[in-house]
Amino acid sequence: MEDCIFCKIANGEIPSATIYEDGDFRAILDLGPASKGHALLLPKKHYADLFEIPDEDAAKAFTTAKKVAGALMKAAGAEGIQIVQNNGEAAGQTVFHLHIHMIPGYKKDGHPGAVWNPGTLNDADRNEIVENIKKYL
Ligand code: AMP
Ligand code: ZN
Repeated sequence: MEDCIFCKIANGEIPSATIYEDGDFRAILDLGPASKGHALLLPKKHYADLFEIPDEDAAKAFTTAKKVAGALMKAAGAEGIQIVQNNGEAAGQTVFHLHIHMIPGYKKDGHPGAVWNPGTLNDADRNEIVENIKKYL
């Protein structure tokens, strides 16, 4: 895709701090890290989000993230790692080329990366979603 910055980075047209590369993916360090070692796994092919990527490539993306995240934790000296993947502006996606965040966690820092305030599951939401989802699966 022309004018997609992650296409250019994934395919090596724009330099990046690359921590992993194979024929299908490149993993780079995020320029605005949530924690030390925050990295992004980018497919070399352009898919805007999870709903565009074919199942086979999605499966490969997750197994590749597993491999890179394990190595990244060791390389960064982290004790945990958070995997985050945003789809759509409403969910915090800002770059519309699918990417998987790998955010190392450190006991000394508390909870890094994506955090949320847990609410309480109410009956209306529970009934609406449990009932409606049957139409879409
Ligand atoms: P998201 O909000 O899930 O779309 O995540 C986009 C991520 O890309 C953010 O964490 C940004 O810091 C990161 N980012 C944006 N541009 C670049 C870039 N040129 N190189 C590395 N990371 C980038
Ligand atoms: Zn792209």
